[in-house]
Amino acid sequence: MSVLVVGSIALDTVKTPVEEHTDQLGGSASYAAVGASFFSPVQLVGVVGDDFPESEFEFWKSRKIDASGVQRVRGKTFRWSGEYAWDLNTRETRSVALNVFENFQPELPEDFRKAEFVLLANIAPSLQSHVLDQVCRPRFVVADTMDLWIETTRKDLDALLPRIDLLILNDSEAREMTKETSLVKAGRKIREMGPRYVAIKKGEHGALLFGDDEFFSCGAYPLEDIHDPTGAGDTFAGGVGGFLAAHVKGEVTFADLRRAIIYGSVLASFCVEAFSLERLRKLTKDEIMERYQVFRLMSQFEIAA
Ligand code: AMP
Repeated sequence: MSVLVVGSIALDTVKTPVEEHTDQLGGSASYAAVGASFFSPVQLVGVVGDDFPESEFEFWKSRKIDASGVQRVRGKTFRWSGEYAWDLNTRETRSVALNVFENFQPELPEDFRKAEFVLLANIAPSLQSHVLDQVCRPRFVVADTMDLWIETTRKDLDALLPRIDLLILNDSEAREMTKETSLVKAGRKIREMGPRYVAIKKGEHGALLFGDDEFFSCGAYPLEDIHDPTGAGDTFAGGVGGFLAAHVKGEVTFADLRRAIIYGSVLASFCVEAFSLERLRKLTKDEIMERYQVFRLMSQFEIAA
């Protein structure tokens, strides 16, 4: 089963205290699509300009990412630039140039409309809704969002939430959305806004998953060297969506989601080991499985006699 992924496709310039890389492949959909592609075929929807490297289309092809939903239009590709502080956690956006993204109206190719698993990677919630309008009968919809939309397009976001099965957001966004300091209260409140499940990411501290009277907490892989945290959240979402599409035949259960967020965390831990998608480009399934086992061992414990 393939997963439909929509989001931004960007050329990013990222600066950390030790390195700076210019105009490298980025964007929420780029990370999410590659993350998902380790588990299932991907149908990718987005927009790029005429300056976007043809080699990335070849790369997508090699990863079974069907890019027939990517519009190539005249003009420049969306550009984003960010700078990290020494802790590689705090990030400041230096510039955003919407370029071809400004007039983007996602139009799904006919065969994409039958998608059963949909991953709405981070873009404006009105665009996420517009994509969902075109999908005939989605079985499970995952959506990611960011502080910008919580602050500037809250109405659109609120309209989208009841159509979502799993909302993914980070801890500060969850607090901002609910005005709660407790993430447990925030998770419960967000579920009341519509999504059946909520995953709250806590960066280097793992992720929380909330369902109907169900709760799961997953740690993060203890990485010693982080080079570029950009796209970790998008890769996490991609891993979750791809895993569900590949492995769930009937209704998605909480147990499925627990496994999915571990795989999402495994993929995110690889993403941050290098700039842009460089680590993901050479990642193998064996490496993913190895790290999945480490996650299992890390969270196992015995009851004292
Ligand atoms: P993350 O590190 O998960 O927040 O995602 C970073 C990616 O999001 C970068 O590759 C950017 O190109 C992309 N991005 C940044 N701002 C936006 C935006 N307003 N809309 C869509 N994508 C964005």
